[in-house]
Amino acid sequence: MPILSSNQEIILQGTAVSPGIAFAPVHVMGRGMVAPEVYEISHHHIDYERNRFQHALDKTKQQLSGLQQKIEAISGEQDALIFEAHLMILQDKTLLKKIDVAIEERLQNAEFAYYAVMQTYTEAMRRMNDPYLAERAVDIDDVAQRLLRNFSSADAEHKSEDTNPDHKHIIVAYDLTPSDTATMDRQMALGFVTEQGSINSHTAILARSLGIPAIVGVEGAIMKIKALTFIILDGYTGKVILNPQPSTVNKYRKIQRAKRERENKLEEIKESKTQTLDDRTINLSANIEFDHELPLVERSGAEGVGLFRTEFYLLGGGEIPDENRQTKVYTNVAEKMNPHQAIIRTLDAGGDKLPAEPLPEPEPNPFLGWRGIRISLSRVGMFKDQLRAILRASAHGRLGVMFPLVSGLTELITAKDILKQCMDELHEKGIPFDPKIEVGVMIEVPSAALMADELAKEVDFFSIGTNDLIQYTVAVDRVNKHVSALYKPTNPAVIRLINHTVRSADDNGIWTGVCGEMAGELNLTPLLLGLGVSKLSVGTHQLPKIKKAVRSLSYSECQAMAQEALKCRFSKDIFELSQNMAHSSYSFLID
Ligand code: PEP
Ligand code: MG
Repeated sequence: MPILSSNQEIILQGTAVSPGIAFAPVHVMGRGMVAPEVYEISHHHIDYERNRFQHALDKTKQQLSGLQQKIEAISGEQDALIFEAHLMILQDKTLLKKIDVAIEERLQNAEFAYYAVMQTYTEAMRRMNDPYLAERAVDIDDVAQRLLRNFSSADAEHKSEDTNPDHKHIIVAYDLTPSDTATMDRQMALGFVTEQGSINSHTAILARSLGIPAIVGVEGAIMKIKALTFIILDGYTGKVILNPQPSTVNKYRKIQRAKRERENKLEEIKESKTQTLDDRTINLSANIEFDHELPLVERSGAEGVGLFRTEFYLLGGGEIPDENRQTKVYTNVAEKMNPHQAIIRTLDAGGDKLPAEPLPEPEPNPFLGWRGIRISLSRVGMFKDQLRAILRASAHGRLGVMFPLVSGLTELITAKDILKQCMDELHEKGIPFDPKIEVGVMIEVPSAALMADELAKEVDFFSIGTNDLIQYTVAVDRVNKHVSALYKPTNPAVIRLINHTVRSADDNGIWTGVCGEMAGELNLTPLLLGLGVSKLSVGTHQLPKIKKAVRSLSYSECQAMAQEALKCRFSKDIFELSQNMAHSSYSFLID
């Protein structure tokens, strides 16, 4: 595939997954390691090669420690822990021994000896077909590539800059893991473009949370886009414009200004209520992955946190933080959000996220496997640490707790029993907590939605996780771009399940929220309101717009439209009904 020529304006199309416009030169993050030159060394050069290797190794360690400090200063200790893992790869004694043997006995030049050992190692990990190991292999590639670049000292300064540029840039990569996205230097990385990925992957969700404009699904991007090419990334339409002409740059600067002005205007309604024209009050909360996003939550005008996805915080470092460290983080959330409620979701590992622990063998179907509450119920000690930490933090504000991926009553009752045990333990020790903490369940598996009338008797609220509910109802992998056309929030089966869930909640006097990405879809706000959802929890970037949308709608009109929608047989008809109402009420908000 040719690299596209140097000054011609070229547009590549992908899928916009995180809004915003960025202008910058490209930094290409390659896929895996690039093979270095190979040659046989003489016996006299063995020590010389060993020294070259040691020099490259020391240099790499220095760079990684520097990066660790930098990320710690920008986004906190947790985010920086990934570099700790990278440093450990460099100290692996078995690998170091193998490299030494390859230099001494096979007389390989140092960079090739290093490359060959690391390549064999990562290939073996990839062959095991385990998502956790595959993710670790990407980390190892990353470190190895950095070290290989450090072999030539003349090149080292320049190349290491290329590995992690100190200038503003847009990342172009084959794929990025959620942790790559979480650790991105947001001062320098203005956006990213990947070949793989989908709008509902956790990488995309994180990009939206962190406000990083992003486009996925640009085929052949790393081959087509040369490093340092100046590009415009249009995170609204999914266009990547290479070598834009001055008129194109001007056009996009204008669009960017207009969007900013609109966003500033929306800030003005920050303090106003989220209420429809006919006075139906909606609670509009924010989804977060880390507590350092709280300033953004406060600025967005959110009425609390509707979903704290704790797995990114819990699994982002080397080991799961203990009860005391977790208590600190949840207390921070409770205090900052007070008097609003913050809902802490217990660990939801597995699927496309990191597993809670390395698995002895790969799961054949990770999305149908050891995920969500299933992990917590089989690791009760770990689960109780988290529950006690949430309870202890509940003494400092208004917290809620909810369980992910519950598939039926037995799981819910077991989880609640464990929560009760934790309350008793704290009570016995005289440790304060809120005994009335609201307990909820995520409705994201069709079996849970169908049993909503029974589940409702056990909890204080429902939170519908549409990302998974759609995936499981329609049997469409939420991160597989080949089947993404089937991934439709307005699939009639999904709408019926949402309706059944809300009706069951109403009958039992509890409330229903939606915290999946559907809650932030402006075209679908009329439909969710009309179905009776009373809480929406969305990424902070989308929050002011959703507030404005709710304030522009009539609840009774939404209800009438939703009744029509429930009669529809096709996704597209349901979508159109809601979209028409959205357009006639707030077309100015829709991109
Ligand atoms: C969901 O499934 O809609 C949800 C909010 O959970 P997650 O995206 O973390 O799986
Ligand atoms: Mg989910």
